[in-house]
Amino acid sequence: MKEYWDALEIVLNSTKVLGNEKVFITQALGRILAEDIVADRDNPPFDNSGMDGFAVKYEDIKEATEENPAILELVGEVKAGGESLKVESGTAVAIYTGAPIPEGADTVVQKELTKVEDNKVFIFQELPKGANIRKRGDDYRAGEVLIPKGKLIRAAEVGIMASVNRATVYVKQKPKVGILTTGDEILDIGEPISSPSQIRTSNTYSLYAQILETGAEPVILGFAKDNPEDLREKLENAKSCDVLLTTGGVSVGEYDLVKDFVSEVLGVEPIFWKIAQKPGKPVVFGIWGKEKEKLFFGIPGNPVAAMVVFETLVKPALRKMMGFEKVFNPVVKAKLIGGYKRKKGDRLEFVRVSVEKTDDCFIAKTTGKQGSNILTSMLKANGLAIVDKGITEIKDSELVDVILFDSSFMLEKV
Ligand code: AMP
Ligand code: MG
Repeated sequence: MKEYWDALEIVLNSTKVLGNEKVFITQALGRILAEDIVADRDNPPFDNSGMDGFAVKYEDIKEATEENPAILELVGEVKAGGESLKVESGTAVAIYTGAPIPEGADTVVQKELTKVEDNKVFIFQELPKGANIRKRGDDYRAGEVLIPKGKLIRAAEVGIMASVNRATVYVKQKPKVGILTTGDEILDIGEPISSPSQIRTSNTYSLYAQILETGAEPVILGFAKDNPEDLREKLENAKSCDVLLTTGGVSVGEYDLVKDFVSEVLGVEPIFWKIAQKPGKPVVFGIWGKEKEKLFFGIPGNPVAAMVVFETLVKPALRKMMGFEKVFNPVVKAKLIGGYKRKKGDRLEFVRVSVEKTDDCFIAKTTGKQGSNILTSMLKANGLAIVDKGITEIKDSELVDVILFDSSFMLEKV
């Protein structure tokens, strides 16, 4: 039996980063960049105006005041995207934000400091030379690496890619993650219930959603009964996946066959079986594929255990496959309101909690019954408080580390 932190380390050390693929930048959000993004030209590409106003020569507006304005002849206008004009001594050109600075001009006076009458521009204030001009290359220079490979692509990165004329971009691939649901008693949505001992699956779909949340690609491989023929047949479907998740059938029960059949059908090499944690003790982890580049997680059937094992073990591995440098969920310190007590401290425990933000700290409350079959406790939870091995009591308001799996509580009401 592995300690949780050792199990996590083994999983991550066994996980290989996937290759690259080309996607449209509209599909690149949330992916990891697999190439450097380089500027195709200077930005701004030319000197341009930062204001609506008048392009002038500084010499002509020097010492202009309210009482003694500079008076210049208006000789034209230039808009953003327009042709550049020429400013001679004693003249001004009307200019708009983003428009190229006319030849001869070195300063832009914003409209608010001027008045126009009979084709004459009155300028009531001196401005420093170069005022309101955005210089070519102020932002970046042609050839500069603007986004280094390895970066997580957010909206700002997508915008920069567009501005340097990139329609497509290389990103790290996402793993195809197969979900095989096992158990004689398990029914898919829509299947008629013929006996009260049958159970409607939740794991198939909670795992599906968690895979999507991680940014990977879920594939439902089907539902297998606890018998060799069915398991063999359904496991065949897993061959095209990068990661196989099975749920159910990994504890010591008579029908717990999954771990034997993944070895037989897929050549899974088992690495460990069982983690000293609660919930989710009966976890099988193995590697498979030509170069042992694929992962197998045999996840317990208990719905809460399945979700917790995914958050704490599978998700970091999927993130590593997708090229993430930071693979673990955020962990915050929170005051555990009401504390927590347990009889035995023989295993690390992930206690489901609901975390809230107060003005100066995070507070966490346990979500009630902690049995690993109480799925509704996950509805109320947004975090997992880590109660270390050896600890049997956390006092009221003591600080605990909480792994967050949903940060929507950080959103603010208007
Ligand atoms: P097992 O890991 O197969 O021993 O299953 C442990 C418990 O989880 C049993 O009560 C199962 O009925 C339940 N269970 C197994 N698979 C699922 C599933 N896909 N959805 C909901 N409950 C499940
Ligand atoms: Mg079972």
